[in-house]
Amino acid sequence: MNSSTTTSGLTFDVQLSAQRKTPQEREQLLENPGFGTVFTDHMVSIDYMEGKGWYDPRLEPYGPLTLDPATASLHYAQEIFEGLKSYRHPGGEVACFRPEANAARFNRSARRMAMPELPEELFLGAIETLLSHDSEWIPSQPNSSLYLRPFMFATDVGLGVNHPSRSYRFVLIASPSGPYFSGGIKPVSVWLSEDYTRAAPGGTGEAKFAGNYASSFVAQSQAVQQGCDQVVWLDAKEHRWVEEMGGMNLFFVFGSGDEARLLTPALTGTLLPGITRDSLLTLGPELGFPTEEGSISTDEWRRAAQSGELTEVFACGTAAVITPVGHVKGPGTEFTIGDGQAGPVTMGLREELVALQYGTRPDTHGWVRTL
Ligand code: PMP
Repeated sequence: MNSSTTTSGLTFDVQLSAQRKTPQEREQLLENPGFGTVFTDHMVSIDYMEGKGWYDPRLEPYGPLTLDPATASLHYAQEIFEGLKSYRHPGGEVACFRPEANAARFNRSARRMAMPELPEELFLGAIETLLSHDSEWIPSQPNSSLYLRPFMFATDVGLGVNHPSRSYRFVLIASPSGPYFSGGIKPVSVWLSEDYTRAAPGGTGEAKFAGNYASSFVAQSQAVQQGCDQVVWLDAKEHRWVEEMGGMNLFFVFGSGDEARLLTPALTGTLLPGITRDSLLTLGPELGFPTEEGSISTDEWRRAAQSGELTEVFACGTAAVITPVGHVKGPGTEFTIGDGQAGPVTMGLREELVALQYGTRPDTHGWVRTL
């Protein structure tokens, strides 16, 4: 076993895969990777035990995990995750966009789920160690990237449900991802979900907790049955206040040209604090658009769309960056935003953010971390 030392001086043991893909095999897999189905040669794992802390950080061959059938996370769902991307910049450097923000959100999720926090340097060290061995898996096509998926799950064996697990494993895997919109940017249609609730006050909505996604699939299926692409979540109590869309946050654009201003639902504790959302709260004003966090009801959404005051709506998140929302449907309501096409504010913000992520604009915010 070799070891690899990160910039913060942490040492990860390194066990290289004997089954590394050949450059030809890799190139073939990278031709059209899609999303989340192709994985790199290695993964990083770190274990935790109460009283001992985090131990045995290691890079190892990507492969199956062996779990006792009574492993706590399989029964009581103590599992959290993150999602971020690494990019190849024009000078050849490998860069991540705001990984410290993902590390911080990971630890907020951990606290909510009574799991141990992972020190930021271990989170970043895991990324650096994996990328220093697998960065050739970053696809070279435009708008492609290497998606990073850090996650942590309970590893105690036993069915006792009165206390959180005392042991955990952190794992980081990486998956090359192709352009989200292969045939150009296409607005999505959304279904306002009144039958299902994603998150309630005091619940787990602001954590990136696996169970939030498990409970969302039935509502997403309902959206598809209604002929829509995505579900929009409303508040739990009144099913009236807009929260977020599937796995993305929402922005509303009022007015146009120099008069355009942005609104995004405030972080009330029931929606995920997206890092893309947070970046746009800074970029919006820099591009000349007053940007506020607030509330918008489904009635206001419809009224403002029909009066023309609301000109654009878009969703934002790591996977698709910015996606225009063209059409809205819900129980007893249906309307179009503007002409149903991607608008100029949406596309301008998208271009700015993508340029920062791919390193074609100078990083004046300290958001880009290169290896
Ligand atoms: N909401 C939910 C429910 C999500 O899963 C995500 C993706 N992490 C987002 C919003 C967007 O967050 P980010 O911009 O950090 O990807």
